[in-house]
Amino acid sequence: MGRVRRMLIVDGYTDEPAGLGVPPYLDVYAREAYGALKLVDSSNEAYYLTIDEVRKDWVGYAELTKKVDLVLVIAGALVPGKYLGGEPLRSPQEFERLKFLSSAPVALAGPAASFGLGGTGGSVSSEVEADYRIRGRVAHWVYEAALWGPESASDALWIDNYALVDKALIRGSEVVKQHPNYKVGNLTVELETYSGCARSVGGGCSFCLAPLKGRPVQRDVRKIVEEVEALYKFGVRSFRLGRQSDILVYGSPDLGTEEWPRPSPLALRRLFQGIRSVAPSLITLHIDNVNPGTISRWPEESELALKEIVRWHTPGDVAAMGIESVDPRVVKINNLKVLLDDALVAIRIVNKVGRNRGWNGLPHLLPGINFIAGLPGESKETWEYNKALLDRIEEEGLLVRRVNLRKLSLLPGTQAYSLTKKVVVSKGYEGFRKYVMKWQERMLKKVVPPGTVLRNLVVEKVEKGVSYARQPASYPLTVEIVKPLPVGSWITAVVKRAHSRSVLAELR
Ligand code: SF4
Repeated sequence: MGRVRRMLIVDGYTDEPAGLGVPPYLDVYAREAYGALKLVDSSNEAYYLTIDEVRKDWVGYAELTKKVDLVLVIAGALVPGKYLGGEPLRSPQEFERLKFLSSAPVALAGPAASFGLGGTGGSVSSEVEADYRIRGRVAHWVYEAALWGPESASDALWIDNYALVDKALIRGSEVVKQHPNYKVGNLTVELETYSGCARSVGGGCSFCLAPLKGRPVQRDVRKIVEEVEALYKFGVRSFRLGRQSDILVYGSPDLGTEEWPRPSPLALRRLFQGIRSVAPSLITLHIDNVNPGTISRWPEESELALKEIVRWHTPGDVAAMGIESVDPRVVKINNLKVLLDDALVAIRIVNKVGRNRGWNGLPHLLPGINFIAGLPGESKETWEYNKALLDRIEEEGLLVRRVNLRKLSLLPGTQAYSLTKKVVVSKGYEGFRKYVMKWQERMLKKVVPPGTVLRNLVVEKVEKGVSYARQPASYPLTVEIVKPLPVGSWITAVVKRAHSRSVLAELR
């Protein structure tokens, strides 16, 4: 086929350890693809539909495919979970339907291009066939497909510089106007600061794909700020600095050479201050992953770096820590980051810097804890170690915004995949899961006690007379209001009672 001049992007949503693209979040893929097409020729056209929009109108989708040279499907929700804002494209059958109804060739991008569809925690994905599979940076592939045609587009797996991606992301910011959450005003755009993980130097964690991306490559702070400026001009008001393995080491001169880079508070100040200067009335500026091992190894520098974040961000932020397990045997076999005492150091420091309450009702910055079940080396003792960590946190009066306990996703190419072909969760898992639920309920009562006023909530769903609202945020708290309210409305509510993962509230 000839050059691609018209393209339909179908966003089947992505959820990766470093990158969230389920509405109201928009990850980099669609922006890169849109921008790359326009960079080649500004008269090229790109349409954007979410998979939920396609599901509502399959006939309209089929008609639109007649007008384009290529359908680009983005998919790959690698992290299992239910989402309030949309249902990811997970089933191979649904992807087959997209292909069957399309008059144009179909390309697949995002994690699904490498790992298939259908895999959730504890299972392996199944491969899917597409006319083209884009496993590398989508900007590069689309750029070449627009120049020479898809047959000649190379799938450069990983990049060693951001030259084209930077330009594509800035040019592609325009695609936000076609996103359903754009009009609501809660569209939250995922920002990337670097690729890969510092720990690739030492092999990285057994289950993780990030070390396979090679040594980290950093984006120039000016390009990130330029991208935010472009997005802000189009009306985006919420930003999530989530596309990197550890925000604390962005800008560190050691990133790429050391397994545990020393954080650079100055680099973070430039980044956050730069964003604020071009987006003065933003509603949300949040982070995502923070490596607890960075904080425990560099406590003073990390504290200063966290202070910079809290100085410029918006409240309700979460430093998501992939602790995974503090069982020494599991930590060793899987090359994890911290043992119990080091995890506590990290949680204490984040509390020290971030636990003050902010204007939107939530503490400024709290830790989030991720545990993984089914890692090689796990035994029934594993749950005792993890439980001991939670107990210590509670005894010390520390706050944690949320705990995620998920089953291992076995991904080909990872160390865990070569260590085990089947995810086996040890005895005692169910008891630990229930313990975590109860623990979270007690914790959430402290994080949002009755009477807390939560501002800037957006009603995202109404079901059986209950409205579900969330603030635009990195890890938003779900607020239930027993009253049907217009979807998309912005409200203020007062907390009545906390459950384990949500709160019951009344309109203010
Ligand atoms: S620290 Fe481990 S889990 Fe986190 S990105 Fe690096 S290798 Fe992956």
